[in-house]
Amino acid sequence: MTRIPGFLFVITAPSGAGKTTLITRLRQEFPQIRFSVSTTTRPPRAGEVHGRDYFFVDHGTFSDMVTRDAFIEWAHIHGNDYGTSREYVDSALDGGSEVLFDIDVQGFRALRAQLGPRANYVFIAPPSLETLGRRLAGRGTENPESLALRLKNARTEMEAAGEFDFIVVNDDLETAYTELRAAYLACHLRPQYRTGLLPAPGQDSHEG
Ligand code: 5GP
Repeated sequence: MTRIPGFLFVITAPSGAGKTTLITRLRQEFPQIRFSVSTTTRPPRAGEVHGRDYFFVDHGTFSDMVTRDAFIEWAHIHGNDYGTSREYVDSALDGGSEVLFDIDVQGFRALRAQLGPRANYVFIAPPSLETLGRRLAGRGTENPESLALRLKNARTEMEAAGEFDFIVVNDDLETAYTELRAAYLACHLRPQYRTGLLPAPGQDSHEG
């Protein structure tokens, strides 16, 4: 029997591009999507739940995990460490399930280097850096230093947008969601997920 490989959907966006809202909506419409819960040394924000949003750990635990090779990729972002579980990625690839990854540009590059076309990569861009700055300030979750750092990083991240399979522009939320949904659905049309349809290599394709 032909196995359908796991569907890995990687989403990257500068902080404040509206990614969380878009991801929440995608997961509501397509409940089969599981979320890859990263491990981080960042303290939880109000409303964040350990094990649901992140696994919140101290620096010692994080470096133990790095030493044990527990992460398929990890990165130092905005002054904190974030890592993606290697075991989770492997089981997603084997298990034929759908998993969404919310990671930064460094994480995207590391995953793409290891997984290549076995995963799908979408970048969510703000309409401009000015809009991004306004949104981040309005969100009120960052202190001035953290806000400046996130904006500086956003500039570099925007330069990487061209490396992704798709770019969703989040100016108007409805339009952005339509684009993200279209990208998600289009990724399912890739030949590797159409295995039941295609003859296996070397198989006689003549029918009667
Ligand atoms: P936040 O602190 O706002 O939750 O996340 C900051 C950044 O870290 C976001 O761009 C998010 O996508 C990224 N991020 C979260 N988890 C991971 C991870 O496991 N690996 C990498 N490389 N980035 C991550």
